[in-house]
Parts: sequence; C-alpha cells; structure tokens
Amino acid sequence: MRCGHHLLVALAASLRAMSYEAPMSNDEFRSAGHEMIDWIADYWERVDALPVLSQTKPGDLRSALPTSPPQGPEAWADIMSDVDELIVPGITHWQSPNFFAYFPANASPPSVLGELLSAGLGVQGMLWATSPACTELETHVLDWMVDMLDLPDRFRSGGSGGGTIQDSASSGALVAILAARERIAGQFRWDDLVAYGSEHAHSSMLKGCKIAGLRESQVRTISCDDNFAMDAAELRRAMREDIADGKRPFFVQATTGTTSSGAFDPIADIADVCKDLVAWLHVDAAFAGVAAVAPELRFVNDGLERADSYTLNPHKWLLTNFDCSLFYVADRQPMLAALSVVPEYLQNAATDDGEVIDYRDWQISLGRRFRALKLWFVIRTHGVEGLQAFIRSHVAMAEDFAAKIDAHPSYELVAPTSLSLVTFRHVDGDSANERIRDSINASGEAYLTHTRLNEQTVLRMAIGAVRTEQRHVDALFSLLAMLA
Ligand SMILES: *Cc1c(COP(=O)(O)O)cnc(C)c1O
Repeated sequence: MRCGHHLLVALAASLRAMSYEAPMSNDEFRSAGHEMIDWIADYWERVDALPVLSQTKPGDLRSALPTSPPQGPEAWADIMSDVDELIVPGITHWQSPNFFAYFPANASPPSVLGELLSAGLGVQGMLWATSPACTELETHVLDWMVDMLDLPDRFRSGGSGGGTIQDSASSGALVAILAARERIAGQFRWDDLVAYGSEHAHSSMLKGCKIAGLRESQVRTISCDDNFAMDAAELRRAMREDIADGKRPFFVQATTGTTSSGAFDPIADIADVCKDLVAWLHVDAAFAGVAAVAPELRFVNDGLERADSYTLNPHKWLLTNFDCSLFYVADRQPMLAALSVVPEYLQNAATDDGEVIDYRDWQISLGRRFRALKLWFVIRTHGVEGLQAFIRSHVAMAEDFAAKIDAHPSYELVAPTSLSLVTFRHVDGDSANERIRDSINASGEAYLTHTRLNEQTVLRMAIGAVRTEQRHVDALFSLLAMLA
C-alpha cells in the first residue's frame, strides 16, 4: 500500500516535470520590459552621482548571494530589487560621464535598442542561409563604414576584400595572424615563423600568436621613438637579422593609436618594410580608427591603403555598446583558406552556389550574433554629421584639458595629446602619481587609470563617454589641482 502511494507521488512529480510552464507570459514580459527600459533610462540619468569605480571588496557580492539556486520560480520584482541592492554597488560605471579610465566603452540609446532587438530576434547568423538579413546588413554597414571613414577601396566587399564584425580587436588580430600564416602555407617550418610588434603593441598580439601556436621567442618586440611610435628602421633590421638566421618573418602588427599613449606607428614606412621582406601587415586602430569619421582627423588612415588587414572598435568610441569590433581584409582568400570548414550538416544551396558570404569563415567561432543592427541604428539615428560632432566634442575637451595640464606648475604632458587621450604626470614622481590616482578613484568622483612610459608611472585621461560634457572634465581638473 505505502509503496504504491510513493509510486503515485513520484509519477505525479515526473508528469509535472514534463510539462514546462513559462514563468513569464508574453504580457508579463511586455510590462517587465517597459519597466526595464525605464530602469535603464533612470540609471543613465543618475549614473553621474554614483561612485565611478565600484567600491566593493573581493567576495562582497558572492557572500550576499544564496549558496544554491532557487528550486521554484521567484517573483520578477524580487529579482530586480536584488539588481538594485546587490548588483549596482558592484558595478564600475563605464557609462558615467566621469569615467576617464582605459578607453571608453560607450553605449548610446540606439545601440542598446539594437542589442535588445538582436536578442529578441534571437538570430544565429553563422551562414547567410541562417538569416540572410543578418549577413547582408553586416556587409552593407561595413561598406558604409568604408565610405564614412574614407578607408581604402580594397576593404570593400565588392572586390577581393571585405569587412566583418568581430567580438573584439583581439579576435581580429588572431584572424589576421592565421590568415598571414595561411598565405605562406607550405613555405615555412613552424619553428621558423616570426611575428613583430612594437613595445607598445596591444597585448592581444602576443596572445594571438600564442593561440596560433607560436612560442614567445617567435614574437619580436620592436623599440619605439621618442613619441612611442614604432621605429621602422629597427623593424627592418630585426626582420633582416631573422631572415639571415634562416627564420621566416610573416606578420607585423602596427598600431594607430596605441593603448598607452595613443601613438601612431608610421604605417607607410612599415608597409615598405613588409613589402620588401614579404610579411602581412595588420593595423590595429581599436581606439583611434573611428576618428576618421571627421575629415580633419583622417591622418589616422595614413598608409592604410597598403595594409593587409585593419581593425577598429565602434564599441570603444563610436556610441555602440560592447561588442562591435570591425575587421577588414584586403584579400579574403587566405583567411577563408585558414578558417573555412564545411561539415555535411551545414551544407546548403546558397553556400554551394558561392553567391553569398558565410561569416562563420571570417571568425574563430561558428555561431555569431546579429551585431550589425546596433551599428546600423547608431549610424541612422545620428547621421554622419552627428557622429562627427560626437568625436569632435571629445577631441576639443582633450585639447582644452591638455592645455590646462601644460600650464599647471605641478603637472606635465608626457606624450603628444592623441585625439581624446591625454597622458600626463605629476612632476614629483611615481608615488605622487599613484597617490593622486588612488585618491581620485577612491573618492568615486571620477575614474582614471595609469600606464608606464619612459619607465615612469603616467596618468591617462581618456575622454569619450556618451554623457561626458566640458563640466565633467573641468571637475576632474579641479580635483587634480586640489591634489597637486
Ligand atoms: C583596446 C585595444 C585593443 C583591444 O580591444 P578588444 O576589442 O577589447 O580586444 C587592441 N588594441 C588597441 C590599440 C586597443 O586600444
């Protein structure tokens, strides 16, 4: 008898488990969704009053969370109240107008709506056939960007090259390294490959080389001139020396707008070296590339017509929330040869006919999101002129800030001001600069980070958040003056 009862209970439970009941109906989604948009809009209105750098300590959030997940459904209101009470204090507010650290990761209203639409459509755009609009909008917007930034024609989709959206500039660098290696397939011994970047090249280059199977000893660091730009003569010397040693230089990464100081490597001179000694030239403009939307800032494109690949991030300074990194190649064949793998279950007529782009062959992963939507929304809602005004406003604020630093007796500029990035230091040395940085960040009033240049600790002022206005930059300067 008892045994039969247990069986019935177990049977009822398993029947319940088999029928899924959505905890949020479409109508509930509608109202929670409207509230979420209000939450975000309210957040943007109050974010300037929040401490920019999260003031929590390691483990604070985890110790406030239950150790196990809930067995039954929880009310949406309870979840959102935990967002307010537990999550927000653990946020470093990248959208604060007082955020001047690293580089910006700016999120504008149209980009956030594009992100939401992409999530709602829930498209997986690995093939043209898995959502033609996902692929074709991306191709189209990437061609628009060639026009808007006045990039070389070789990066347009109509010829042998083209562009795509990667998750990050790091992925773009890795794809470039793999394509560069593929271009000389069969002509090298693995151990002989050598890649080159300056001492200020982004760390993603070394990481990309390591992922591609190179040892650190196969990656050369080229020294820089007084302005922290790669010394092209030194690059030529290093490559010649490697060739004389029986090595095979295959990849050079140059940077326009380095992470530390925004320095511009001499792309034309580096391209000469790459042409003479037959290496792939990848240009990393993750931060600075988008500045070319303004015609007077197109020096950022100098020499680019000779690059094999190019990367720049709308997700830093062009109003598009992370992730949205553009990657262009002049010749897509080596990349496709390196990355195209077509299993039976992905075969389809459109691919077989060769008339479409399948972007899975342009990146590491198979699956991909519909990222072009948010960039398309950003471009259309601002227009080219709106984007130009945005970039120009930050460049003007940076120039003004640099002039004030230059005029202050206790501070000095350390590198030429680069677009919206100012690198400077207190004249009293490293510990003074660390103290100033730490007191600003602990105050919550603003957030600044540092770097090392000429073996000195240097402060970086990176202007570029969507809501930063002149008064926010002025307030930071007052803080600096007070701490001097
Ligand atoms: C930020 C930055 C990167 C890395 O960008 P991700 O998109 O985060 O990978 C690479 N290069 C430069 C010059 C950068 O400033």
